[in-house]
Amino acid sequence: MIVLVINCGSSSIKYQLYDMPSKKVLAKGLVEKIGEQISGLSHKYDGKKHEVELSIPNHKAGMEVILKTLTDGEVGVIKEISEIGAVGHRVVHGGEKYSGSVLIDDSVIKCIEDFCDLAPLHNPPNLTGIREAQAALPGVPMVAVFDTAFHQTIPAKAYLYALPYELYEKYRVRKYGFHGTSHAYITHRMAEVLGKPVDETNIITCHLGNGASMAAVENGKCIDTTMGMTPLPGLVMGTRCGDIDPAIIFYLLGKEEFKDYRDIDKILNKKSGLLGISEFSNDQRDLEEKAEKEGPESRAQLALDIFAYRVSFYIGAYMGIMKHVDAIVFTGGIGENGSIARSASCKPLANVGVELDEAKNNETIRGKEGEISTASSKTKVFVIPTDEEGWIASETFDLAT
Ligand code: ADP
Repeated sequence: MIVLVINCGSSSIKYQLYDMPSKKVLAKGLVEKIGEQISGLSHKYDGKKHEVELSIPNHKAGMEVILKTLTDGEVGVIKEISEIGAVGHRVVHGGEKYSGSVLIDDSVIKCIEDFCDLAPLHNPPNLTGIREAQAALPGVPMVAVFDTAFHQTIPAKAYLYALPYELYEKYRVRKYGFHGTSHAYITHRMAEVLGKPVDETNIITCHLGNGASMAAVENGKCIDTTMGMTPLPGLVMGTRCGDIDPAIIFYLLGKEEFKDYRDIDKILNKKSGLLGISEFSNDQRDLEEKAEKEGPESRAQLALDIFAYRVSFYIGAYMGIMKHVDAIVFTGGIGENGSIARSASCKPLANVGVELDEAKNNETIRGKEGEISTASSKTKVFVIPTDEEGWIASETFDLAT
Protein backbone atom coordinates (compact mmCIF):
# COMPACT_ATOMS: atom_id res chain seq x y z
CA MET A 1 0.00 0.00 0.00
CA ILE A 2 1.17 3.52 -0.80
CA VAL A 3 0.85 5.78 2.28
CA LEU A 4 1.13 9.56 2.18
CA VAL A 5 2.27 11.26 5.41
CA ILE A 6 1.29 14.89 5.85
CA ASN A 7 2.56 17.38 8.44
CA CYS A 8 0.63 20.58 7.85
CA GLY A 9 1.81 23.81 9.48
CA SER A 10 0.45 27.35 9.29
CA SER A 11 2.41 28.22 6.14
CA SER A 12 3.93 24.91 5.06
CA ILE A 13 3.04 21.32 4.25
CA LYS A 14 5.67 18.59 4.65
CA TYR A 15 4.97 15.29 2.92
CA GLN A 16 6.52 11.87 2.61
CA LEU A 17 5.31 9.04 0.40
CA TYR A 18 5.93 5.47 1.58
CA ASP A 19 5.61 2.04 0.11
CA MET A 20 4.24 0.00 3.00
CA PRO A 21 4.88 -2.25 4.80
CA SER A 22 8.49 -2.09 3.54
CA LYS A 23 8.65 1.56 4.73
CA LYS A 24 10.55 2.48 1.58
CA VAL A 25 10.46 6.25 1.10
CA LEU A 26 9.41 6.91 -2.49
CA ALA A 27 9.52 10.71 -2.25
CA LYS A 28 9.48 13.48 0.29
CA GLY A 29 9.29 17.22 0.26
CA LEU A 30 7.89 20.48 1.43
CA VAL A 31 5.76 23.32 0.15
CA GLU A 32 6.53 26.44 2.12
CA LYS A 33 5.72 30.13 2.35
CA ILE A 34 2.08 29.35 1.53
CA GLY A 35 0.20 32.64 1.11
CA GLU A 36 3.35 34.71 0.51
CA GLN A 37 4.11 36.33 -2.84
CA ILE A 38 6.57 33.63 -3.77
CA SER A 39 6.13 30.15 -2.34
CA GLY A 40 8.46 27.21 -2.76
CA LEU A 41 8.34 23.51 -3.50
CA SER A 42 11.24 21.25 -2.61
CA HIS A 43 10.78 17.65 -3.72
CA LYS A 44 13.20 14.74 -3.33
CA TYR A 45 12.80 11.48 -5.21
CA ASP A 46 15.09 8.71 -6.41
CA GLY A 47 18.18 10.46 -4.93
CA LYS A 48 17.33 13.61 -6.93
CA LYS A 49 16.04 17.02 -5.94
CA HIS A 50 13.47 19.20 -7.69
CA GLU A 51 13.10 22.78 -6.41
CA VAL A 52 10.80 25.47 -7.83
CA GLU A 53 9.36 28.82 -6.86
CA LEU A 54 5.60 29.05 -7.40
CA SER A 55 2.55 30.93 -6.29
CA ILE A 56 0.75 28.87 -3.63
CA PRO A 57 -1.99 31.13 -2.24
CA ASN A 58 -3.51 28.66 0.24
CA HIS A 59 -3.31 25.12 1.63
CA LYS A 60 -5.78 23.81 -0.98
CA ALA A 61 -3.34 24.92 -3.71
CA GLY A 62 -0.46 23.47 -1.65
CA MET A 63 -2.10 20.04 -1.52
CA GLU A 64 -2.78 20.20 -5.27
CA VAL A 65 0.88 21.02 -5.97
CA ILE A 66 2.01 18.06 -3.84
CA LEU A 67 -0.33 15.58 -5.57
CA LYS A 68 0.56 16.96 -9.01
CA THR A 69 4.28 16.62 -8.23
CA LEU A 70 3.91 13.05 -6.94
CA THR A 71 2.17 12.03 -10.20
CA ASP A 72 4.27 14.20 -12.56
CA GLY A 73 5.67 12.43 -15.62
CA GLU A 74 9.25 13.57 -14.87
CA VAL A 75 9.70 14.04 -11.12
CA GLY A 76 6.74 12.00 -9.90
CA VAL A 77 6.92 8.53 -8.35
CA ILE A 78 3.37 7.23 -8.94
CA LYS A 79 1.15 7.31 -12.03
CA GLU A 80 -2.24 8.18 -10.51
CA ILE A 81 -3.25 9.66 -7.18
CA SER A 82 -5.65 6.72 -6.86
CA GLU A 83 -2.55 4.65 -6.01
CA ILE A 84 -2.46 6.37 -2.61
CA GLY A 85 -4.15 3.89 -0.27
CA ALA A 86 -4.12 5.91 2.97
CA VAL A 87 -3.01 9.25 4.40
CA GLY A 88 -1.44 9.74 7.84
CA HIS A 89 -1.65 13.18 9.44
CA ARG A 90 0.52 14.49 12.22
CA VAL A 91 -1.82 16.16 14.70
CA VAL A 92 -0.26 17.99 17.62
CA HIS A 93 -2.97 17.82 20.28
CA GLY A 94 -5.28 14.93 21.05
CA GLY A 95 -6.11 16.12 24.57
CA GLU A 96 -7.11 13.36 27.01
CA LYS A 97 -9.28 11.73 24.38
CA TYR A 98 -6.62 9.93 22.34
CA SER A 99 -3.99 7.60 23.72
CA GLY A 100 -3.26 6.20 20.27
CA SER A 101 -3.73 6.90 16.57
CA VAL A 102 -7.25 6.83 15.07
CA LEU A 103 -8.98 6.56 11.72
CA ILE A 104 -10.40 10.00 11.01
CA ASP A 105 -14.18 10.45 10.88
CA ASP A 106 -16.43 13.42 11.67
CA SER A 107 -16.28 12.81 15.41
CA VAL A 108 -12.45 12.81 15.35
CA ILE A 109 -12.46 16.08 13.40
CA LYS A 110 -14.83 17.56 15.98
CA CYS A 111 -12.44 16.54 18.80
CA ILE A 112 -9.39 17.98 17.01
CA GLU A 113 -11.39 21.21 16.61
CA ASP A 114 -12.20 21.11 20.29
CA PHE A 115 -8.48 20.85 21.16
CA CYS A 116 -7.60 23.96 19.08
CA ASP A 117 -7.98 25.87 22.32
CA LEU A 118 -5.10 23.82 23.80
CA ALA A 119 -2.85 24.07 20.72
CA PRO A 120 -3.94 27.25 18.93
CA LEU A 121 -0.85 27.43 16.72
CA HIS A 122 -0.83 23.81 15.62
CA ASN A 123 -4.23 22.09 15.62
CA PRO A 124 -5.91 24.60 13.22
CA PRO A 125 -3.34 24.05 10.41
CA ASN A 126 -3.36 20.29 11.13
CA LEU A 127 -7.13 20.37 10.59
CA THR A 128 -6.71 22.34 7.37
CA GLY A 129 -4.33 19.62 6.15
CA ILE A 130 -6.90 16.92 6.93
CA ARG A 131 -9.73 18.80 5.20
CA GLU A 132 -7.70 19.55 2.07
CA ALA A 133 -6.46 15.96 1.85
CA GLN A 134 -10.03 14.68 2.23
CA ALA A 135 -11.18 17.03 -0.53
CA ALA A 136 -8.35 15.99 -2.87
CA LEU A 137 -8.51 12.26 -2.07
CA PRO A 138 -12.17 11.46 -1.36
CA GLY A 139 -12.83 8.04 0.11
CA VAL A 140 -9.17 7.40 1.02
CA PRO A 141 -8.80 6.37 4.70
CA MET A 142 -7.05 9.02 6.79
CA VAL A 143 -5.39 8.51 10.16
CA ALA A 144 -4.56 11.06 12.87
CA VAL A 145 -1.32 10.42 14.77
CA PHE A 146 -1.13 12.65 17.84
CA ASP A 147 1.98 14.18 19.40
CA THR A 148 0.34 13.89 22.81
CA ALA A 149 -0.92 10.29 22.58
CA PHE A 150 2.19 8.47 23.83
CA HIS A 151 2.13 10.53 27.04
CA GLN A 152 -1.44 9.61 27.98
CA THR A 153 -0.13 6.79 30.21
CA ILE A 154 1.50 9.33 32.56
CA PRO A 155 -0.15 8.91 35.99
CA ALA A 156 -2.13 11.75 37.61
CA LYS A 157 0.58 12.34 40.22
CA ALA A 158 2.91 13.33 37.37
CA TYR A 159 0.50 15.07 34.99
CA LEU A 160 -1.38 17.24 37.47
CA TYR A 161 -0.03 20.62 38.48
CA ALA A 162 -0.56 21.57 42.11
CA LEU A 163 -3.12 24.19 41.14
CA PRO A 164 -6.78 24.34 42.22
CA TYR A 165 -8.22 21.05 40.94
CA GLU A 166 -11.12 22.84 39.30
CA LEU A 167 -8.69 24.36 36.75
CA TYR A 168 -8.09 20.82 35.52
CA GLU A 169 -11.81 20.02 35.51
CA LYS A 170 -12.97 23.28 33.94
CA TYR A 171 -10.07 24.22 31.67
CA ARG A 172 -8.15 20.96 31.13
CA VAL A 173 -5.01 22.44 32.73
CA ARG A 174 -2.53 19.53 33.06
CA LYS A 175 0.68 18.18 31.58
CA TYR A 176 0.10 16.66 28.12
CA GLY A 177 3.62 16.33 26.68
CA PHE A 178 4.65 16.49 23.02
CA HIS A 179 7.10 14.86 20.55
CA GLY A 180 5.11 11.67 21.27
CA THR A 181 5.69 10.21 17.79
CA SER A 182 9.44 10.46 18.35
CA HIS A 183 9.40 9.04 21.89
CA ALA A 184 7.08 6.22 20.76
CA TYR A 185 9.26 5.34 17.76
CA ILE A 186 12.43 5.37 19.89
CA THR A 187 10.78 3.11 22.49
CA HIS A 188 9.81 0.53 19.87
CA ARG A 189 13.15 0.73 18.09
CA MET A 190 15.11 0.44 21.36
CA ALA A 191 13.06 -2.64 22.30
CA GLU A 192 14.20 -4.21 19.00
CA VAL A 193 17.83 -3.14 19.57
CA LEU A 194 17.81 -4.50 23.13
CA GLY A 195 16.04 -7.68 21.98
CA LYS A 196 13.23 -7.19 24.54
CA PRO A 197 9.45 -7.04 24.26
CA VAL A 198 8.26 -3.41 24.22
CA ASP A 199 6.32 -3.93 27.46
CA GLU A 200 9.54 -4.89 29.24
CA THR A 201 11.58 -1.99 27.90
CA ASN A 202 12.69 0.72 30.34
CA ILE A 203 14.40 3.73 28.83
CA ILE A 204 14.94 7.45 29.11
CA THR A 205 14.50 9.11 25.72
CA CYS A 206 16.18 12.46 25.08
CA HIS A 207 14.80 14.13 21.94
CA LEU A 208 17.15 17.09 21.61
CA GLY A 209 16.48 19.35 18.64
CA ASN A 210 15.50 22.96 18.27
CA GLY A 211 12.52 21.84 20.34
CA ALA A 212 13.62 19.39 23.04
CA SER A 213 11.91 17.01 25.43
CA MET A 214 12.62 13.85 27.39
CA ALA A 215 10.44 10.94 28.43
CA ALA A 216 10.73 8.34 31.18
CA VAL A 217 9.45 5.08 29.71
CA GLU A 218 8.73 2.17 32.05
CA ASN A 219 7.63 -1.18 30.61
CA GLY A 220 7.12 0.53 27.25
CA LYS A 221 4.79 3.16 28.72
CA CYS A 222 5.54 6.81 29.29
CA ILE A 223 5.43 7.69 32.99
CA ASP A 224 6.69 11.27 32.76
CA THR A 225 7.90 13.83 30.25
CA THR A 226 9.52 17.24 30.42
CA MET A 227 7.13 19.30 28.27
CA GLY A 228 3.86 20.26 29.88
CA MET A 229 0.48 21.71 29.02
CA THR A 230 2.40 23.45 26.22
CA PRO A 231 5.80 22.72 24.62
CA LEU A 232 7.41 25.50 26.68
CA PRO A 233 8.60 23.83 29.92
CA GLY A 234 11.31 21.31 30.65
CA LEU A 235 14.59 21.40 28.79
CA VAL A 236 16.33 24.51 27.47
CA MET A 237 15.54 24.75 23.74
CA GLY A 238 16.71 26.79 20.75
CA THR A 239 14.54 29.78 21.63
CA ARG A 240 12.21 28.41 24.37
CA CYS A 241 13.09 28.90 28.01
CA GLY A 242 12.15 25.49 29.43
CA ASP A 243 11.44 25.45 33.20
CA ILE A 244 11.23 28.84 34.85
CA ASP A 245 9.62 30.25 37.98
CA PRO A 246 6.11 31.26 36.78
CA ALA A 247 6.19 34.31 39.06
CA ILE A 248 8.85 35.83 36.77
CA ILE A 249 6.03 36.60 34.33
CA PHE A 250 4.12 38.71 36.86
CA TYR A 251 7.29 40.39 38.03
CA LEU A 252 8.13 41.43 34.45
CA LEU A 253 4.55 42.53 33.74
CA GLY A 254 5.03 45.15 36.43
CA LYS A 255 7.89 46.74 34.48
CA GLU A 256 7.37 49.65 32.07
CA GLU A 257 8.92 47.73 29.18
CA PHE A 258 6.47 44.80 29.34
CA LYS A 259 2.93 46.08 29.55
CA ASP A 260 1.42 43.41 27.35
CA TYR A 261 1.50 39.70 28.26
CA ARG A 262 2.16 38.97 24.57
CA ASP A 263 5.58 40.61 24.89
CA ILE A 264 6.45 38.13 27.64
CA ASP A 265 5.01 35.25 25.62
CA LYS A 266 7.32 36.22 22.75
CA ILE A 267 10.32 36.37 25.09
CA LEU A 268 9.63 32.93 26.58
CA ASN A 269 8.96 31.21 23.23
CA LYS A 270 11.11 33.06 20.73
CA LYS A 271 13.87 34.94 22.51
CA SER A 272 14.97 32.59 25.31
CA GLY A 273 16.81 29.27 25.44
CA LEU A 274 20.18 28.98 23.71
CA LEU A 275 19.50 32.21 21.81
CA GLY A 276 18.48 34.14 24.91
CA ILE A 277 21.53 33.21 26.97
CA SER A 278 24.09 33.50 24.16
CA GLU A 279 22.50 36.57 22.48
CA PHE A 280 24.04 35.03 19.39
CA SER A 281 22.28 31.95 18.01
CA ASN A 282 19.67 29.28 18.73
CA ASP A 283 21.79 26.73 16.89
CA GLN A 284 23.94 24.29 18.87
CA ARG A 285 26.58 24.06 16.13
CA ASP A 286 27.02 27.85 15.89
CA LEU A 287 27.44 28.02 19.65
CA GLU A 288 29.96 25.19 19.72
CA GLU A 289 32.04 27.02 17.11
CA LYS A 290 31.82 30.31 18.96
CA ALA A 291 32.65 28.71 22.32
CA GLU A 292 35.65 27.00 20.73
CA LYS A 293 36.91 30.41 19.54
CA GLU A 294 36.04 32.45 22.61
CA GLY A 295 36.81 29.96 25.34
CA PRO A 296 35.20 28.54 28.49
CA GLU A 297 34.17 31.91 29.91
CA SER A 298 32.18 32.88 26.79
CA ARG A 299 28.43 33.35 26.80
CA ALA A 300 28.15 30.73 24.05
CA GLN A 301 29.73 28.19 26.41
CA LEU A 302 27.41 29.27 29.23
CA ALA A 303 24.38 28.62 26.98
CA LEU A 304 25.73 25.15 26.12
CA ASP A 305 26.43 24.45 29.80
CA ILE A 306 22.90 25.44 30.85
CA PHE A 307 21.45 23.26 28.08
CA ALA A 308 23.49 20.21 29.08
CA TYR A 309 22.93 20.78 32.82
CA ARG A 310 19.15 20.61 32.34
CA VAL A 311 19.45 17.37 30.36
CA SER A 312 21.66 15.82 33.10
CA PHE A 313 19.25 17.07 35.73
CA TYR A 314 16.25 15.33 34.16
CA ILE A 315 18.14 12.12 33.37
CA GLY A 316 19.17 12.04 37.05
CA ALA A 317 15.58 12.67 38.17
CA TYR A 318 14.17 9.99 35.88
CA MET A 319 16.82 7.45 36.92
CA GLY A 320 15.75 8.18 40.48
CA ILE A 321 12.04 7.52 39.94
CA MET A 322 12.35 4.53 37.58
CA LYS A 323 12.67 1.01 38.94
CA HIS A 324 15.24 0.13 36.31
CA VAL A 325 16.74 1.86 33.26
CA ASP A 326 17.92 -0.35 30.38
CA ALA A 327 19.23 2.57 28.36
CA ILE A 328 19.41 6.32 27.93
CA VAL A 329 18.76 7.23 24.28
CA PHE A 330 19.73 10.40 22.44
CA THR A 331 17.85 11.49 19.33
CA GLY A 332 16.86 14.68 17.39
CA GLY A 333 19.28 17.03 15.59
CA ILE A 334 21.46 17.62 18.67
CA GLY A 335 20.96 14.17 20.19
CA GLU A 336 21.94 12.40 16.96
CA ASN A 337 24.84 14.64 15.92
CA GLY A 338 26.02 16.57 18.94
CA SER A 339 28.79 14.53 20.54
CA ILE A 340 29.78 17.54 22.66
CA ALA A 341 26.23 17.95 24.01
CA ARG A 342 25.92 14.21 24.72
CA SER A 343 29.24 14.14 26.51
CA ALA A 344 28.44 17.23 28.61
CA SER A 345 24.98 15.86 29.48
CA CYS A 346 26.34 12.50 30.62
CA LYS A 347 29.42 13.75 32.51
CA PRO A 348 27.67 14.51 35.84
CA LEU A 349 25.98 11.09 35.65
CA ALA A 350 29.31 9.38 36.34
CA ASN A 351 28.09 9.69 39.96
CA VAL A 352 25.38 7.15 39.19
CA GLY A 353 27.59 4.92 37.06
CA VAL A 354 26.79 6.25 33.58
CA GLU A 355 29.99 6.28 31.55
CA LEU A 356 30.38 7.30 27.91
CA ASP A 357 32.99 5.77 25.66
CA GLU A 358 34.24 9.07 24.22
CA ALA A 359 35.80 7.43 21.17
CA LYS A 360 32.46 5.82 20.28
CA ASN A 361 30.63 9.03 21.13
CA ASN A 362 32.80 11.00 18.72
CA GLU A 363 32.62 8.36 16.00
CA THR A 364 28.82 8.30 15.62
CA ILE A 365 27.82 9.18 12.11
CA ARG A 366 24.68 11.06 11.14
CA GLY A 367 21.77 8.74 10.57
CA LYS A 368 23.47 5.73 12.21
CA GLU A 369 22.43 3.90 15.35
CA GLY A 370 25.04 3.06 17.93
CA GLU A 371 25.87 2.31 21.54
CA ILE A 372 28.14 5.00 23.02
CA SER A 373 28.63 3.81 26.63
CA THR A 374 31.58 1.84 27.96
CA ALA A 375 31.26 -1.88 28.63
CA SER A 376 31.37 -1.15 32.38
CA SER A 377 28.74 1.62 32.34
CA LYS A 378 25.90 0.71 34.72
CA THR A 379 23.36 2.02 32.21
CA LYS A 380 23.78 1.72 28.46
CA VAL A 381 23.67 4.89 26.36
CA PHE A 382 22.57 4.85 22.72
CA VAL A 383 22.15 7.17 19.77
CA ILE A 384 19.08 6.28 17.68
CA PRO A 385 18.01 8.51 14.77
CA THR A 386 14.35 9.32 15.15
CA ASP A 387 11.82 8.56 12.41
CA GLU A 388 8.62 10.43 13.15
CA GLU A 389 7.28 10.20 9.59
CA GLY A 390 8.05 6.47 9.43
CA TRP A 391 6.16 6.00 12.70
CA ILE A 392 3.15 7.89 11.30
CA ALA A 393 3.29 5.74 8.14
CA SER A 394 3.32 2.51 10.20
CA GLU A 395 0.44 3.65 12.40
CA THR A 396 -1.52 4.66 9.29
CA PHE A 397 -0.84 1.38 7.52
CA ASP A 398 -1.87 -0.64 10.60
CA LEU A 399 -5.17 1.21 10.99
CA ALA A 400 -6.03 1.40 7.30
CA THR A 401 -5.53 -2.31 6.52
P1 ADP B 1 13.80 20.63 15.03
O1 ADP B 1 13.41 20.53 16.47
O2 ADP B 1 13.54 21.98 14.45
O3 ADP B 1 13.32 19.45 14.19
P2 ADP B 1 16.40 19.41 14.69
O4 ADP B 1 16.01 18.11 15.33
O5 ADP B 1 16.68 19.41 13.24
O6 ADP B 1 15.38 20.56 15.05
O7 ADP B 1 17.72 19.93 15.45
C1 ADP B 1 18.31 21.14 15.17
C2 ADP B 1 19.52 21.30 16.10
O8 ADP B 1 20.45 20.24 15.83
C3 ADP B 1 20.26 22.61 15.91
O9 ADP B 1 20.54 23.20 17.19
C4 ADP B 1 21.57 22.16 15.26
O10 ADP B 1 22.65 22.98 15.59
C5 ADP B 1 21.74 20.79 15.89
N1 ADP B 1 22.74 20.02 15.13
C6 ADP B 1 22.68 19.57 13.87
N2 ADP B 1 23.84 18.98 13.52
C7 ADP B 1 24.67 19.10 14.58
C8 ADP B 1 26.03 18.72 14.84
N3 ADP B 1 26.76 18.08 13.94
N4 ADP B 1 26.53 19.00 16.06
C9 ADP B 1 25.80 19.65 16.99
N5 ADP B 1 24.52 20.02 16.82
C10 ADP B 1 23.97 19.77 15.63
